[in-house]
Amino acid sequence: MNYTHHSSNARLTKVILAKSADTIEWMRKNGIDTELVTNTQEVHQNHPRTYHQFIDKFNGFKKFMDNFKAAGGTLLTETAGNKIIQENGKVTGIEVIRNGKEEEIATKAVILADGGFGGNKEEVKQYLAIDPKDLYSMGERKATGDGLRMLKEVGGVNDYKRIFENHAASVVTGAKNPWNNGNLMTLATLPLLWLDQEGKRFTNEDIVYDFALWGDTTYATGGHYYFVFDQNFVDYLKNNVLNWTGSFERTGALLAHKDMTYQVGPMKNLQTEIDSLAGKDPVWKENSLEALAQDIDVPEENLKDSLERYNKLVAKKEDTDFYKDSKFMRFPLEKAPFYAVKAVSTTLGTVGGGLVNENFEALTSDRKVIPGVYAVGNDASGMFDSSYPTIEGLSNAFAWNSGRIAGEKASQFVKKEN
Ligand SMILES: Cc1cc2nc3c(=O)[nH]c(=O)nc-3n(C[C@H](O)[C@H](O)[C@H](O)COP(=O)(O)OP(=O)(O)OC[C@H]3O[C@@H](n4cnc5c(N)ncnc54)[C@H](O)[C@@H]3O)c2cc1C
Repeated sequence: MNYTHHSSNARLTKVILAKSADTIEWMRKNGIDTELVTNTQEVHQNHPRTYHQFIDKFNGFKKFMDNFKAAGGTLLTETAGNKIIQENGKVTGIEVIRNGKEEEIATKAVILADGGFGGNKEEVKQYLAIDPKDLYSMGERKATGDGLRMLKEVGGVNDYKRIFENHAASVVTGAKNPWNNGNLMTLATLPLLWLDQEGKRFTNEDIVYDFALWGDTTYATGGHYYFVFDQNFVDYLKNNVLNWTGSFERTGALLAHKDMTYQVGPMKNLQTEIDSLAGKDPVWKENSLEALAQDIDVPEENLKDSLERYNKLVAKKEDTDFYKDSKFMRFPLEKAPFYAVKAVSTTLGTVGGGLVNENFEALTSDRKVIPGVYAVGNDASGMFDSSYPTIEGLSNAFAWNSGRIAGEKASQFVKKEN
């Protein structure tokens, strides 16, 4: 509650917390085992551990579905919920599209759990505060906002705190998955000098060690920034090991049960890699700062001032502007060619929109329960404030626990109705 300045729903937050340990046990009994891992982000080392990693995820989910069917459940794949059917204010069924054809399924309760609206281009554009071109989405593309639409159609609120799960920033080249952009993506995970669209420094770059805060900073600075470096840095990395940690190293290593290296490089092919991309978005290389400023469309004066100021701070090894750890005040930008690489806002999807109470029952704008309609996971508001929380695993925990709670409440509701 303190974290969200009490703008989240305390009753709802409490039921999620109270349910969480039991849900982990319930998942295990039903086929999906998890393990509590050491904090995977650099800045969270001394925080309570919360992150449960799925063990053998794909088999686990298969077992989970098999157990659901064995217990008498009916699993309908290729079946998209489309419209809640009501008679006299009561839910009587749901219209679905199954293998391209409309069908009606009789039911007294519907739980909307289709993952938010991150896959809906129009709605993303409407709710995004940055240019959609600056958004790289890692989220579920099939989450096209159907549930939120259905919620509105039955009188619910579907735009209560629609939040983008900002998560890090990406270097998007033509490669299929930007996160496989080898050395370039690794450079994005380091606290180098970052400049905004005015060509000015805008943050303590070691924010890179918290993925949510890094993502928020990128979003807040307008959706993209440039990390810049010079030839000395490229030459250094080509031949040397840098004793910094790439911000995703801990995640990759820990989740794969490997040892940390706390090292970056040497990157033997860094020069070739950069040269093969340089000259167009998102990588530029120039012999003069004038030309580089032109490439990235920032005022030349700002770019020069930013580098001059940064070099002075590096010389003192003290960042009196943004207080970056002096360990990272190491590489002045002095030798041409100079390089700039664009990093863009990145989202894991959206969460929120659906106004619900602590039973995950949908509410109208005057907070009346819509009987038989529930919204959970990325469709539900209540726990998040304005961004992806910096508590590892919380997003998934919210989805599992809210889904379970809504399932139990819906089952009680249906029994009462019968
Ligand atoms: C790359 C990535 C990494 C992540 N890492 C973490 C992490 O480390 N920790 C963490 O806590 N969270 C993480 N998350 C977030 C977490 O995965 C989500 O919070 C969670 O999956 C949300 O669950 P959900 O059930 O609401 O939606 P989803 O898991 O998106 O499930 C919704 C399902 O509904 C289906 N669907 C869509 N439309 C319809 C329709 N009309 N009818 C029926 N079905 C429909 C979709 O295809 C999808 O299968 C990550 C997300 C991503 C993308």
